[in-house]
Amino acid sequence: MKLLLCGYCKDIRAVDVVETTTCRCGKTAAKYRDDRWRADIWGDDCILLGLKNDDVYPLLAARDAPEDDRRAAELVAQPPWHAQAHYH
Ligand SMILES: [Zn+2]
Repeated sequence: MKLLLCGYCKDIRAVDVVETTTCRCGKTAAKYRDDRWRADIWGDDCILLGLKNDDVYPLLAARDAPEDDRRAAELVAQPPWHAQAHYH
């Protein structure tokens, strides 16, 4: 899944699979292309982040894990040179 991180308001939002996703302050936005691998991004201070779909459920399961059983996942920045990110 892709996440939009806004440099202005520091909001992080999951990019919606249908609608254009806009951050809290409204200065940045992102939208999946039809193949759902690539996304368009608007805004001059934002970055697209990638989270492996396989990491989503283990993170959700951590809600019921003991305190010392930490779960982690990697967020990968997808800057303008990234093949799946199309900045405008
Ligand atoms: Zn914002």
